[in-house]
Amino acid sequence: MTDSLARRLTCIDCGAAHPLAYLLQCERCHGLLELTYDLDRLRRDGPAIFTGTGLWRYAPVLPIADPAHRVTLGEGGTPLLDCPRLARDLGVRRVLVKFDGSNPTGTVKDRSSATAVGAALQFGYRATSVVSSGNAGSSIAAYAARAGLRSLIFAYERASAPKLLHMAATTADLIIYKGVYDDLITLWDRLVEEKLFFDCGASRNAYKQEGKKTLAYEIAEQTAWVPPDVIVAPVAVGETFIAMLRGFREMREAGWIPRVPRMVAAQATRANAIARAFREGTAITPLKIGYTVAEGLAAGNPGKKGDWVLRLLREEKGLAGDAEDEEILDAQRRLARTEGVWAGPTGVATLAVLIRLLARRQLEPAQTICVIISETGLKTEAEVPSRVGAAFDYDSLRRLVTERLPAK
Ligand SMILES: [Zn+2]
Repeated sequence: MTDSLARRLTCIDCGAAHPLAYLLQCERCHGLLELTYDLDRLRRDGPAIFTGTGLWRYAPVLPIADPAHRVTLGEGGTPLLDCPRLARDLGVRRVLVKFDGSNPTGTVKDRSSATAVGAALQFGYRATSVVSSGNAGSSIAAYAARAGLRSLIFAYERASAPKLLHMAATTADLIIYKGVYDDLITLWDRLVEEKLFFDCGASRNAYKQEGKKTLAYEIAEQTAWVPPDVIVAPVAVGETFIAMLRGFREMREAGWIPRVPRMVAAQATRANAIARAFREGTAITPLKIGYTVAEGLAAGNPGKKGDWVLRLLREEKGLAGDAEDEEILDAQRRLARTEGVWAGPTGVATLAVLIRLLARRQLEPAQTICVIISETGLKTEAEVPSRVGAAFDYDSLRRLVTERLPAK
């Protein structure tokens, strides 16, 4: 197995290099840090450097040095589904769905939980913590349990029942907080400085974010190193978006792929601080937000990460959009009926945004477009269909079947 090719942490603002320690910001200017790798080695060895399956197949481009710290529940290696019926429905040449709801806890977060908890082990921590709308909490709790670490999970009071059940099952330390994510995260981020627990939040930790980079590597490999023209990624604070773009840039620099896909940042209209700033050509104005069905996208103040997303969108000529809750729920039904993929509202906001951008002719339909579907629908709470049952005898049963499925 090849060692990690991570070499240093680099400040995204001033470019200062730092050693591979547990650092959350630049010591010179307090900017965010990103991991940098030995890309010459990637160029020399080519994709044959990857061995094994799942997320840790990409261990050379992840920052966990010791294989003993590479905690796993079988994450990654999720399907990239060619969706011809959905493509026809949308009037697009080709649509690919990257279904990350098939991860162990049903969300893309398992990728970052694997590297977050791996990094907690690497730096000798015994406890982890996260503030979550539901998915990150149950994912971190599961990975912490798997690694034998404690997890102090702060969960949104309106998190769905299945997510709460999952968290309560996987950690003994589940705390429900009042209000939305933004209300607690700045206080919690301050507490991170005291090092009572390992930071499993989305605001700053480069080691945690890095797990999501594997989405880019997987998609590139699944498309034989000719990635889609466009990728629509969900954005709350921006981890998935930033990490994927970094992955594609690394592969371009290593000469593995011809170009970086055009990245589209997808938000819920009720929490659209980044999309709004992008459209208006301004800096981000934090929003006071309420509830959105896309619970995992409910961040009104994306902080420095949000600024980073905006900078990347402008540098790489990306695009940003948002969708209303009703459009998200409509996209959820549409994906389930056309392709059999049952995604939660957070996970399917990308598709709703794609539909809107196509309707407004902001995206060219003669392209291959990949949507990241980031969570399963099985952890969603929604009104159930009528439970009024029918009793049958043979004749009434046969009548129903022949009515519903008439002979050709
Ligand atoms: Zn700096």
